[in-house]
Amino acid sequence: MRLLVVEDDADLNRLLVNALKEAGYVVDSARTGEEGHYLGDTEPYDAVVLDLGLPEIDGVTVLERWRKAGRTMPVLILTARDRWSDKVAGFDAGADDYVTKPFYTEEVLARLRALLRRASGHATSELDCGPVRIDTRAARVTVDGNPIKLTSLEYRLLAYLAHHQGRVVSRSELVEHLYDQDFDRDSNTIEVFVGRIRKKLGVNVIHTMRGLGYRLAPPDEAEDLDAQR
Ligand code: CA
Repeated sequence: MRLLVVEDDADLNRLLVNALKEAGYVVDSARTGEEGHYLGDTEPYDAVVLDLGLPEIDGVTVLERWRKAGRTMPVLILTARDRWSDKVAGFDAGADDYVTKPFYTEEVLARLRALLRRASGHATSELDCGPVRIDTRAARVTVDGNPIKLTSLEYRLLAYLAHHQGRVVSRSELVEHLYDQDFDRDSNTIEVFVGRIRKKLGVNVIHTMRGLGYRLAPPDEAEDLDAQR
């Protein structure tokens, strides 16, 4: 999952970026409304944390422009305390949720998890695929209840497929959501990672759709698969 943080306060920006990276997300960040708007307009983010008080272009305007341009990613706004009118303006502009400053990073993380899973139609923080369970809160994966050790990139790949379970995800889409903007992207490496994940899981839940990409088996298929073991 790839996220964007738009916050002009340098310390707060760094705090958020570090907390999100530690939680296993790929994170790009911007310090002005102008830069944030550009990134959100051109890069495919899974969710955005957007401060409302920003230099150059304010957060509400940034959000309005994204929505007008058809950008539908979930957006969590950061608002100052006692500024209820900011929240109203933010929601009217298309925000999905808000956190009031000062905040605990745990709350931002929890709200983002909820936004990400709602965007993909999941009701809980645990995503199941047959014997494979992905706990997005702890960034942990188990097979038949046994913990599987994945690298952060392997986890991100599996979690992205799980958030889009049943849909074919192309290699280029995976690359766009697994690496930040500065990374030298090579979609051939995705195949290598998928191979490693399959081996570690020991159960074939990631299907290769030749020439199209990969697909994580939806729950009903995964159950059949489980029965065949
Ligand atoms: Ca600010």
